[in-house]
Amino acid sequence: MHDSITTAAERLFTQHERSFEQNRFVYPVLSRRSGGISLGVNLNPDKVCNFDCIYCQVDRVSTAETTFVDLPALLDELDHTLTLVTSGKLFEHPKFRDTPPALRRLNDIAFSGDGEPTTHVNFDEVVAKCAELKREHGLHDVKMVLITNASMFHRPHVVRGLATLDANQGEIWAKLEAGTDAYYQQVERTRIPFARVLENITAAAQVRPLVIQSLFMRIAGQAPPATEIAAFCDRLNEITAAGGKLKLVQIYTVARRPAESYVAPLTDAEVDAIAAEVHHRTGLDAAAFYGVS
Ligand code: SF4
Repeated sequence: MHDSITTAAERLFTQHERSFEQNRFVYPVLSRRSGGISLGVNLNPDKVCNFDCIYCQVDRVSTAETTFVDLPALLDELDHTLTLVTSGKLFEHPKFRDTPPALRRLNDIAFSGDGEPTTHVNFDEVVAKCAELKREHGLHDVKMVLITNASMFHRPHVVRGLATLDANQGEIWAKLEAGTDAYYQQVERTRIPFARVLENITAAAQVRPLVIQSLFMRIAGQAPPATEIAAFCDRLNEITAAGGKLKLVQIYTVARRPAESYVAPLTDAEVDAIAAEVHHRTGLDAAAFYGVS
């Protein structure tokens, strides 16, 4: 779910439901940070993920009602929801009635949801069809955001999907939240090697600028050690030294109930300090987003 900061991350920070009316795959969210509506597209309704992040906020206790992506149904929902937003009808709905006039616009379509979107076998086809719908609605300026753990960028169907995003105001928000293999394993709990993620991010960033999304937290009372943050900055510097372009590093923390009870948010000051350190050590733009006080 790697919820993005302005869109999917807004979903981290606010109470919302994955469903809008009867939708199973497409859900509108008011994102104050991005200044508009984000339409989330959930490609993992079965809640299966190839990471098992200790801070994951997907509710895996309750059983998934939908276990596969029904593409015609998804496109139908997207078509319908795009019309609802652009016609203004969405703002007659009780959940969106109080939306301030300035925010009554569509900002993006975000591929996120209850797992890693790029693990979907037809990821490229889904992205292409959603882009086609966006074009049909004349929404050329609306972004398409991919919220991803970068574990599958080396697969041909993902390479194709990323290229389609590039051609359709795409933005890739890639998760990187460790500097060392040990910390990566502690946080992400996956069989996918850290080196694979780093290689994938580097290769993708050589093609187009990426946004890096980094969630740091308190683990059993401990904030990330300074040595880990330094190593994290070293990894960012290696990516840029290899020709990778990183347009922003988003530093954020836990906002909703995480998978593990020993995970807790950092303070605002701690998040600020990490963002400042990242900027200082890498020269990259770093933005801080806070948890819930
Ligand atoms: S990548 Fe991590 S945070 Fe995102 S859905 Fe998978 S387990 Fe949850």
